[in-house]
Amino acid sequence: ARGRVVVVGGGFGGATAARVLHRAGLAVTLVEPVETYYACPFSNEVIAGLRPMSAQALGYEGLRAAGVTLTRTSAEAIDGAARQVRLSDGTTLDYDRLILSPGIALRFDALPGYDEAAAEAMPHAWKAGAQTELLARQLAAMPEGGTVVLSVPGNPYRCPPGPYERASLIAYHLKTRKPRAKLIVLDAKDTFSKQRLFEQAWRALYPDHLEYVPLAAGGQVASVDAGAMSVATDFATHKADVACIIPPQRAAPIAAAAAVADRSGWCPIDPVTFESRLVPRIHVIGDAAIAGAMPKSAFAANAQGKVCADAVIDLLAGRAPAAPKLINTCYSLVAPGYGISVAGVYHPANGVLADIEGAGGTSPVDAPDTVRRQEAAYAEDWYRTITAAVFG
Ligand code: FAD
Repeated sequence: ARGRVVVVGGGFGGATAARVLHRAGLAVTLVEPVETYYACPFSNEVIAGLRPMSAQALGYEGLRAAGVTLTRTSAEAIDGAARQVRLSDGTTLDYDRLILSPGIALRFDALPGYDEAAAEAMPHAWKAGAQTELLARQLAAMPEGGTVVLSVPGNPYRCPPGPYERASLIAYHLKTRKPRAKLIVLDAKDTFSKQRLFEQAWRALYPDHLEYVPLAAGGQVASVDAGAMSVATDFATHKADVACIIPPQRAAPIAAAAAVADRSGWCPIDPVTFESRLVPRIHVIGDAAIAGAMPKSAFAANAQGKVCADAVIDLLAGRAPAAPKLINTCYSLVAPGYGISVAGVYHPANGVLADIEGAGGTSPVDAPDTVRRQEAAYAEDWYRTITAAVFG
């Protein structure tokens, strides 16, 4: 196939797409400003002091060695009519097809009191890197008997089970290092991913360390005060020694700059090709896209990167892409050696990516310890496999 493809964002989605396109012989340029990418999967273990941050660091040498062209800059503007990407170094790239996988932006306008400055006192740690280390340090330094508050947003957001894995591992940290300390989880919703499995584990493992407050019990955070280290709901104000505030999110700013984000802040796409419903020849994958029933996960971004790259190869060759099937699996650790998972299979139906009924499922609720241990091991295998395949 002939054609120039530009990929913006070298995370799980974009790096995957760039590899597939390069392998197919297309001229592809991957635009990514950072030299070291910090992976979010397993970053909750870093926060709980169970894993070094260095285990999250991934470089781009593997992609370069594979022959992918990388520009270490960011995309600043996109002209969908002229089919050009303007980079922060002032150069422009022409494209026949553009793939955006820029990830998320934290919404610092959504929760009163929670802006970028507040995030330095009350980390979100929802983009791995300095924020992850900050929260890990705060937790390690917290006095015995202290209170941790974790605030969870409503849907949609990056990694649906992520906050509950984080809650579990913070509770594990408290139970094993600061047995008189406590975690309060304030949730803006009443139901969540793998809920029965998480709640069962919490009852068994953390009855004295984790208090979960759903929306119905007043869990929605109304405002925060980073100076006073307090988190307020409509019913109560919680004083925190450590506060992790995961705010609502939207697609990263380049999506709005390219005019591919709608009023929700996310990007509507065609479920066969991932082409934007708003601007032709721009495709959006990963967390930034509205992928129907598919969750915003690294596993999903990787699957979408492959499907989208194949669709772009077909489109550039004048072929009609076939309807894809995509898989996702999300593992969570509720304690070291205790893993649970949810899996799904998705296909285009009625214009969206829909669940194939009966194809997925979660770990069994009543499973012996051996199954939980196995799933924890699968989770590590998955991380090793996907990071090698994408960044390799
Ligand atoms: P990202 O991985 O965020 O990549 C986006 C890239 O785009 C970044 O490198 C950024 O620098 C770049 N970029 C942004 N704007 C521009 C621009 N203008 N120009 C150039 N480059 C740009 N998923 C799982 O599957 N399993 C898990 O166990 C899991 N655990 C998680 C735990 C936590 C705590 C969190 C927060 C997330 C977890 N996830 C997990 C979710 C996963 O990290 C994301 O879904 C995944 O990273 C999405 O990939 P992406 O390519 O869409 O975006």
